[in-house]
Amino acid sequence: MSPTMLERAVAQGAAPTLLELMHRGRYVSDCVSAFPSVTPVCAASIVTGVAQDRHGIPAMNWFHRAEDRYVEYGSSFRAAQRFGIARQLTDTIYNMNRAHLSSETPTVFETLDDADVRTAGTTYLMYRGRHRHEPQRDTALTRIASTLVRHPVMGPRELFYADVFASRRTGCRSGLGMPGVRDRHSGCVSAYMVEHDLFDFLLLSLPDNDWYSHKYGPDAQVQSIAQADHQLARVFEASGGIDEFLSEHAVIVMADHSQVPIAYTIALQNELSALGVRGPSSPSGSSRGEQPHIAVCPSQRAAMVYALHESERDAMRASVVTRALAIEGVEHVMWLAHDAHDVPTEGIISSPVHGELRFCPGGELEDERGLNWSVEGPLAVIDAFIHDGRLQTPTYPDALARVWSALTCPASGEVLLSAAPAYEFVDWGGQAHVGGGSHGSLHAGDSLGALVLCGVAVPEHESARWAIADVAPLVRSHFGCAPGA
Ligand SMILES: [Zn+2]
Repeated sequence: MSPTMLERAVAQGAAPTLLELMHRGRYVSDCVSAFPSVTPVCAASIVTGVAQDRHGIPAMNWFHRAEDRYVEYGSSFRAAQRFGIARQLTDTIYNMNRAHLSSETPTVFETLDDADVRTAGTTYLMYRGRHRHEPQRDTALTRIASTLVRHPVMGPRELFYADVFASRRTGCRSGLGMPGVRDRHSGCVSAYMVEHDLFDFLLLSLPDNDWYSHKYGPDAQVQSIAQADHQLARVFEASGGIDEFLSEHAVIVMADHSQVPIAYTIALQNELSALGVRGPSSPSGSSRGEQPHIAVCPSQRAAMVYALHESERDAMRASVVTRALAIEGVEHVMWLAHDAHDVPTEGIISSPVHGELRFCPGGELEDERGLNWSVEGPLAVIDAFIHDGRLQTPTYPDALARVWSALTCPASGEVLLSAAPAYEFVDWGGQAHVGGGSHGSLHAGDSLGALVLCGVAVPEHESARWAIADVAPLVRSHFGCAPGA
C-alpha cells in the first residue's frame, strides 16, 4: 500500500475506518520495507522482527544450493507452471514456513503461543505457530487441492488459510485464495472470530490491494484500499463498532511495501545467456543447451544471480557484474567481498553512473536507524548525504542495512540487482506488469509503506525511521513477552 494512495483514499472519503484509526493513533507515512521489497522477504520480517540475514527468506525466486534447484513462491501463474505447480505450491505452503524460514527466529505466533496468548491468522504467507492443523476436505475445490495439500501444518491456534486449512466451520469461502476474493474471506473469518471471541492476537491479511495495484497500477489503489477498509469495518462491526473494538484491542495497520508504475522490462535470463543460464526445468542443461554456469532469479524489481560452481565463483561474479552494469534499467549491482577464509569483509554497491561504494558494519558513520558503518567511495551511488552527523539516504531508504542483510543472507545469490523506477525483471514465466505496478527494488518508490499504530505503547525510538521489522517487537511487548526474536 502506497502511503500517498492511502492519504488520497482517506481524503476522498473512501476509507473511513482507516481514517478513524489514523486519527486515534499514530500515522507513519514512511515505514521502510525489506530489500528485495517483495512479499516473502517482507512477510518473514514482519512476523519475526528480523531481516533475512537471520530469517533466511531471500526473495520471491531463488536458487537452493543444497537441493540444486530453483525455489519459486509464485511470481505469476506462468512462472509457477514453468517450475511445476505442485512444486511451487509445496514450496509456498509447506517449505517456506517449515524448511526455508529459519528455526532460530520465532514468529510472533510462536512467541505468543508459548505464552498461551490465543493467536489467530487469516491467509498469509507466514503462519508458523505451535498448533497443528489438518487440511480440509469438505468442498469440491479443496478435494482437488487435497491431492497437493495432504500434510498438516503448525500454525496459530485459529488458522484460516485459503480454503485448505480452517480451524472452524465458518461458512466463509475463499475460492482457494483467488485474487479479488481474498480480502472478503479474511473479513468473513475475522468477523466470525470476533463474534465468537476466539482470539487475543489476530494477523488479518488483506492482500488484494497488492494484486489490484499490480494489475491496474499504483494510482488505482484508492479502489482496492476502499475494499480493504470495508472489510476492516465489517470486523469492527462484529463487536458492535469501532469504539467497542478499540476498547478491547489495539490495532496496527501496515503495508509490507509499496509499488511503482511499470513501463519497461528487463529479460535478465536473455541478457546473461552467454554465460550459461540454468533453465527452470532442465537441471543438466542451460537454456541454450550447454553446461549451465549461473542461476538467474528475477524477483519483480530485484534479481539475484548465483554461480553454480564453487571453483569459478569469483570469475563468474565478475563477469555477471560487468554485464549487469551495462543493462538498461539496472540501477544497482551489489555483491560481497570475502577474505582468504571466505568471511565477508565488505559489501559493494555499484551504479553504472556513479561508480562503487564499499561498506561494512561497525565504522564511524551512523545511519538513520542508529547503526554504524564504515563507508568508502562516492555517496552519490546511493544518493546519500550527511546531515546532523548522520548518513541520510532518502532515495534508497535504510540502504546500507537492507543491502547488507540481503548480501549476507546465506540463501542469497552472489550478485544482487535492483531496477530503476519504471523497470521490472521478467519472471521465468515471461511475465511482468507493464502498464500496471510492481515492487522489489531498493528505491523509495517501492520501499516506503504506510504504518498506523493505534492503542499500542510505542517505546521512545532512537531513530526517526520506522521499519517493518519493528512491528513484531511491539506486538510481543503488548502481550508482555520479550520483544526480541
Ligand atoms: Zn506484489
